Order: sequence, then C-alpha cells, then structure tokens
Amino acid sequence: MSAIAFLNIAMHGHINPTLPVVAELVRRGHSVTYHAPSGYAEQIAATGARVFRYRGDDVPLSGPPTPVTVMEQLARTAVRVLPAVLDDLRGTRPDLIVHDSLCPWGPVAARELDVPAASSFTTFAFNRQVPSPTRGSWALLAAAATLPRQAGGYLRSRWELRRRYDTRGVPLVDLANIRQPLNLVYTSRAFHPGADSFDQSYRFVGPSVGARPADSSFPADRLRDPVLYASLGTVFKADPQLLRSLATALAPLGGTVVVSTGQTEPDALGALPANVIAQRSVPQPEVLARAALFITHGGVNSVNEALYAGVPMLVVPQGADQSLVASRLVELDAGLSVRTEEVDPEVVRTLAQRLLDEPRFRAAARTLRTAQREAGGYARAADELERYARRAGAGSRPVPADQPAQD
Ligand code: UDP
Repeated sequence: MSAIAFLNIAMHGHINPTLPVVAELVRRGHSVTYHAPSGYAEQIAATGARVFRYRGDDVPLSGPPTPVTVMEQLARTAVRVLPAVLDDLRGTRPDLIVHDSLCPWGPVAARELDVPAASSFTTFAFNRQVPSPTRGSWALLAAAATLPRQAGGYLRSRWELRRRYDTRGVPLVDLANIRQPLNLVYTSRAFHPGADSFDQSYRFVGPSVGARPADSSFPADRLRDPVLYASLGTVFKADPQLLRSLATALAPLGGTVVVSTGQTEPDALGALPANVIAQRSVPQPEVLARAALFITHGGVNSVNEALYAGVPMLVVPQGADQSLVASRLVELDAGLSVRTEEVDPEVVRTLAQRLLDEPRFRAAARTLRTAQREAGGYARAADELERYARRAGAGSRPVPADQPAQD
C-alpha cells in the first residue's frame, strides 16, 4: 500500500473531481493525505483522507480570475505555503504526490522530497492545439502591461521560489499547465478537443463523479419535470440581473427551474416566479440527473457533470477557458452558446426552447454521456495512480519528465 499526498488550490472545480478518487484510494487501503484550504476540510475529511489545512487565511484565489491575476496569486501562495507543506510532507513521507495542474507548490514539493508526482487536470489539458490561458504570448504580455502591480508581484514570487527551492518542475510562465509524467484529465477523449495530439502521459479518465454528502438544504421534493437548471459556477461572481434573466427566461418552459447563484445572494435577484428555486449552492450532480437542460458558464467540471448525465447545455461563458469549452460543445452539437451581452429573457427562452425541442441536441449529449461513462471515472484514475506508483517505486525517483507513463 502507498502513502499518497494530494495538494490542491482553493477552487471547488479543482477539488471536487479529486474527492471520489481519494475516497477510492482510501477504500483500497492506501494512506492518503490532502493539503487544502480550511474551507474544504470537512468535504475532504469525508473521503477518509487526513487533511492538512494551509496555515493562515484561506489561500486566496478570489476576484474575477484573469491569467495574470491567477498567476500572481498562485506564485505568491506557493511562497507562503511551501515551508509548512514541506514540513508536513517530511513527516508523512509520501510515495507519490498528486497535485492540481495549477498548483506550483506540487512539483516543488515532489522535487524537494524526491518523490514522483502526477498532475490532475480538471480543466482541459493544453498543448499547441489547445492553448493554455497562461502560455507565454503577446496577449499575456499585453495583459501584464495593464496590470503592472500583479505582473511585478508574479515575477518577485517566481524569483523567490527559484531562490529557495528546486523549481525545475514549475513552468516559468505557464502556471495553468503544470505537467508530470502522469497527467490525469477528467474528461473523455471524445469530448476533449484534439485528444489525439496528446502523448501517452495524458490519461483521459472521464468525469470523476462520486457520491457527495447529502445536502439537506435543497428541497428535492419540490422538483417537477421538466427540471431546468442554471448555474454560472462558484468562482465568477454573477451579475444578479444576468441570473434573473436566466430564471425568468426558463420559468415558463419548466416544471421547476433551479438556479444556483454562487457568490451572489439569491435575494439580489428580486422576486422570482413561484416555480424557481434559487440557492447559493445546490447538489449539482443530483439536479443534473433530473434536468432536461442546463444553462452553464462552461466550467469544465460543470460541463463534464452535465455530459455524464446526458444533458444538453446553453453556455454563457464568463471567462477563463469557458469559450473554448463552449465551442467544443457547439461543435459536437451537444449545446448552444450565447454571449453575456446578448442575454435577455427572450433570446435565452428561444435558445432554450430549441435545445428542448430539436432532438439532435439530446442525441449528441447522450452519445457523449456514453463516452464520459466509458472513460472510467474515479476508479480508472485510482488504477492509473496505483500503476504509476508501483512503476515509480521500482525505478529511480522522480520519474524523468520525458518518460511517459505507459500501461
Ligand atoms: N457546484 C455545486 N453546486 C453548485 C454549483 C457548483 O456542487 O450549486 C460544483 C459543481 O458540481 C462543479 C463545481 O462546483 O463540480 C464547479 O466547477 P466548474 O469547473 O464547473 O466551475 P467553477 O466554479 O470552477 O467556475
């Protein structure tokens, strides 16, 4: 049995898919530790892993994330958390580190402890064909020029990391794309753009959807078909008027309309039709299992979960890689996309009606549902990690970056 350490950042979308994997590894008898911000401790502890909370405040990844602000926060956080993380890990002596693809303290810890590492991509994976939002580009440079404080902060923290630690595993710039000899990607090859252009180190394990703790705050008994669901995720603070437009657009079409308001208070939406349930958070996989339609910002995890349930989508991208996700859904016929500026109740109702009425959307979503399920999910992810840990344990550590994990 192995000792496996997970290291993650402060985003639900990056933590959620790892939880069923951790629970499965614990079930198989491995000893798993999980470093995360304190706000996530309870959820993680429910998997059976031993939780280490980052000390100090919650690791901040707040505000509307843009590539430059995210890079600055990640590099700064790495400098702050690494001393304690390394102390903890020297105590627990893991055989394997599994870190998020945006978690720069993961590869540093692996190098410092001389243990193999795997990366966890809850976004799409990136290469020339699928460009990472933080790749070195003129656009990034131009964005950095408009945010001199954050750009300077990034360079200072990145320099500090390099001064103190072995940072050979950390990209100089492309912090959203931290790779390892094993890269778990939580979607299917069928949904991922350009899947064939990725080498064998990328394992498309599909959505990792497992049992979540029951959410008694959600009135599941009020759901009437057709259930129509809208959420703009947990990271971007949605404009209350935008959420209100989605709710009022869907209300005449639905039995029940569920709106997850995320960082926005439900009261800010004003009075809503009687068949609308608006809450800051809802048990999303449970709602999707009943839903006929999902209006989403296009976060990869939400889209993966919806495809796992075979639900067609209307995507309203809010930033990050969400336009890319929207294009892929439209390309595969599993959804439609609309820009935030174009959202009004009439436009949204017309698009939603098409998604409900034209059978091709549901058919494409159902085809992807099969692909998402056949990819293997959390059990396949656990298999891949076990195989990798066995192989790495037999050879020299860490596994060289040019040696992909093979079956
Ligand atoms: N989520 C949830 N309840 C909600 C809204 C979101 O459980 O009311 C979960 C959802 O299941 C997904 C994650 O939060 O796993 C959102 O991740 P995603 O990448 O889609 O978007 P983000 O919030 O990171 O923008």
